[in-house]
Amino acid sequence: MPLTATAYETEIQPTAGPRIEHRQPVATLTGVTKRYGSALALDRLNLSLRPGEIVALLGPNGAGKSTAIKLLLGLSSPTSGSVRVFGSDPRNAATRTRVGAMLQVSRITEMIKVREHLDLFRSYYPRPLPVSDIVRIAQLQGIEDRLFGQLSGGQKQRVLFALALCGNPDLIFLDEPTVGMDIEARRGLWAEIRVLSALGKTVLLTTHYLEEADALADRIIVINKGRVISEGTPAEIKRSSGGRRIRCHTALSHELLQSLPTVTSVESSGEATIVTAIHAEKVVREMLLRDETLSGLEIASPALEDAFLALTKT
Ligand code: ADP
Ligand code: MG
Repeated sequence: MPLTATAYETEIQPTAGPRIEHRQPVATLTGVTKRYGSALALDRLNLSLRPGEIVALLGPNGAGKSTAIKLLLGLSSPTSGSVRVFGSDPRNAATRTRVGAMLQVSRITEMIKVREHLDLFRSYYPRPLPVSDIVRIAQLQGIEDRLFGQLSGGQKQRVLFALALCGNPDLIFLDEPTVGMDIEARRGLWAEIRVLSALGKTVLLTTHYLEEADALADRIIVINKGRVISEGTPAEIKRSSGGRRIRCHTALSHELLQSLPTVTSVESSGEATIVTAIHAEKVVREMLLRDETLSGLEIASPALEDAFLALTKT
């Protein structure tokens, strides 16, 4: 049974003092550089999370995503620059109780039951979420009494997700939360992440799937080699990377096609012409009006992965 935001809030909202930081960013990295020996993992990175938003940190392997999360969790210190979470150092004890995380390297014992893991994690926090809420949000019904080691990969990921919620955090970091899941399981976890957002939690997730960032995020920050290379809403990110591909056989000249609104490129591919445009439907309508012989029309679904590759190309 899905949990409604209202029921949840009345039940388990933190009872601590006034939320004076309400309009302030929840967490920031300001001019953060992180070196591991001679390797530069983050290069003067700026990042700011506003209350209640889902931000996706998107980038290829080695971009610096996990490093950014480790710094925000206080698990690692910046070489230079400043890291603030709820207005203080991320290692501050009060700050830590308000943060939950699902890390890529999470290792928990295989030999105890899911329910025991939940109880253990809940015991670390002053105001933990009720187990029943955690089970509902992370969809663990029916596997609470199974040993962690006996679960499938996707179920393990959901348990790790559940552990991130145990302390009823206001801010949640999810480092590649759907890695190794099939598309159906990924969609399931996306829905669970949206529930968190509906409850007013701030979520930073990392992913190397543009599709995932697009499905979940209010804002996407694309990083590569430790630097921000693009930032905006999913629509803005897709626009900035050139739009959709229209492939067809047409008698129209490249020059004319290039002049149509929102067209970003025109190329030949054998006999076919490939037009990239932000508003593909409008462009196709124009092309059909002007060329009765137009044939073999295909419009590629938003070229998400291409867009991402274009953005992160060095
Ligand atoms: P991502 O999570 O985006 O894949 P990471 O933040 O894990 O990237 O890594 C960023 C860069 O920092 C990579 O070049 C990686 O090899 C390096 N790096 C990360 N952690 C360490 C470490 N503990 N020691 C040395 N190099 C590291
Ligand atoms: Mg990583």
